Amino acid sequence: MANDKKTLALIAHDGKKADMVAFALRFKDVLERYDLIATSTTGSLLADKCGLKVTRMLSGPIGGDAQIAAQVAEGKVEAVFFFVDPLGKHPHDPDIQSLMRICNAHNVPLATNSATAMYIISEKAL
Ligand code: PGA
Repeated sequence: MANDKKTLALIAHDGKKADMVAFALRFKDVLERYDLIATSTTGSLLADKCGLKVTRMLSGPIGGDAQIAAQVAEGKVEAVFFFVDPLGKHPHDPDIQSLMRICNAHNVPLATNSATAMYIISEKAL
């Protein structure tokens, strides 16, 4: 039987991984209704600490953001939860900018912090 679940993408920089885990625990019941994809370390945390089933891409710095951007461009992702650490230095900044740009190019909801994520997921939960 075809899987008609929509897909959400989750990514958190190291300084925001605790926020992501707290967000995922709080909205676990909603997240479970979706297919979830995540960058590698974020995905491991969501599986281990939150008990979520997650398809893991590569880690962000070695191409995970780019893999997720490709799926967004292909229309496969309903919304992106990308908790960005504004105080961190990121060697993969071009990939980060690219993912955000692709979300904007395709008008895909993009939450770059947990406050916005809560609005988006609450709306989706209605
Ligand atoms: P990670 O990648 O989930 O593998 O840590 C996220 C990132 O830093 O972009």
